[in-house]
Amino acid sequence: MSNPFESESPSAAPDHLTHARARLRACVHCGFCNATCPTYTLSGDEREGPRGRLYLMNNVLAGTAQGADLTPLDHCLSCRSCETTCPAGVPYTEILDIVREHTQELRPWHERIRDRALATALGARRPLAAVLRMARRARRLAPPAWKRRIIPAEAGLVWPVARHARRVALLQGCVQPALLPTLDIKAAIILDHLGISACAIGPHCCGALPYHLHAHEQGRADAQEVLALYAAGAYDGLVSTATGCTAFLKDYPRLLATPDAPGQGPGAAVREIAELIDPAVLPPLPPSARRRIAWHAPCSLQHALKGAARVEAILKALGHTLVPVAEAALCCGSAGPYSLRHPRWGRALGRRKWKALTAQAPELIVTANVGCLQHLAGQGNIPVRHWIDLVYAALTNPDTDAHGLGSRADQAPPSPVP
Ligand code: SF4
Ligand code: SF4
Repeated sequence: MSNPFESESPSAAPDHLTHARARLRACVHCGFCNATCPTYTLSGDEREGPRGRLYLMNNVLAGTAQGADLTPLDHCLSCRSCETTCPAGVPYTEILDIVREHTQELRPWHERIRDRALATALGARRPLAAVLRMARRARRLAPPAWKRRIIPAEAGLVWPVARHARRVALLQGCVQPALLPTLDIKAAIILDHLGISACAIGPHCCGALPYHLHAHEQGRADAQEVLALYAAGAYDGLVSTATGCTAFLKDYPRLLATPDAPGQGPGAAVREIAELIDPAVLPPLPPSARRRIAWHAPCSLQHALKGAARVEAILKALGHTLVPVAEAALCCGSAGPYSLRHPRWGRALGRRKWKALTAQAPELIVTANVGCLQHLAGQGNIPVRHWIDLVYAALTNPDTDAHGLGSRADQAPPSPVP
């Protein structure tokens, strides 16, 4: 059978489109990727799976997609689960990013306005932080689903003084410091215990938020500013406590490349923060503080960074038990601003993920990215925490039984599986 992706690119196609077309030819159309695609799993519709999207993108790149419905490209979560599954190594995200930028002006005007409004609202760090501070104060008045999403900030945490020879830059992002204001301080305290000084840079958006809202140039400009912040200090690495940001930082060389010059970026200096924590040096908790945990590895961690096993090893080293979770490769539906742009898909995936996570009645759900944490926290009564909360509690307060569970007043009995 001839390969439908083999026809020549239009001769006048810009370099990046020809490049995308060449990358697309790696696809052998086997369809294995459909089996682990969240939107295909929900819909059973070939157009809403990676293989169907690759056909559509091939038509766009070949110039034969005039009048075609491009919404399946917009429905994609950019979760990269298909890349993990693909036996042929098709760089799906790279192709999708090029095609999305190329077709930006073809999107309906109301979607473009919506995305611009979201990029402005979520990128406005100070107003967002002020609104969330007020929400925290009024938390007890909030409806239950919102109460669970508004995580109380712990008072009295102080960023440790940089005293170690090994220094890493810890990027404080845009949305996370507003939603989880003490998480970066806890990460810095953990690294300080382990002989590494974490120096805060930012707060500054890594660029992922505008980029995934189709403001590609704004995303690149943010990335350049983060590079300048990183270059201003003599750091041994660059980390973030949000895996979505870490994955984007890792991608800088690709995202900032131009036809004339390779992209810049700290490259290997970008480390997933769990890589800096050796599970062997962590003290096991007393039995009373150990928990049965359902672990949700964000897509950015498991598919982009391939780093889920390290966090699992850290949680086990503390003495926690990880319960089995079905469909672990599937996205929870948060996907950065995706759940705000496509609430129907986001809600359906959130419910499905919650059912899988709670099937073994865990005491706690643990994840690694602020977006997943917020999305899951709204689904039911089992507390959802970042793994850094648990390591921090183990290192600083190992004899209490409040490891990552929040105050007893916040806890409700586990909700039944919906
Ligand atoms: S698994 Fe890979 S090769 Fe097979 S259809 Fe999907 S992208 Fe193409
Ligand atoms: S990135 Fe995720 S949602 Fe998009 S096609 Fe691949 S598996 Fe499906």
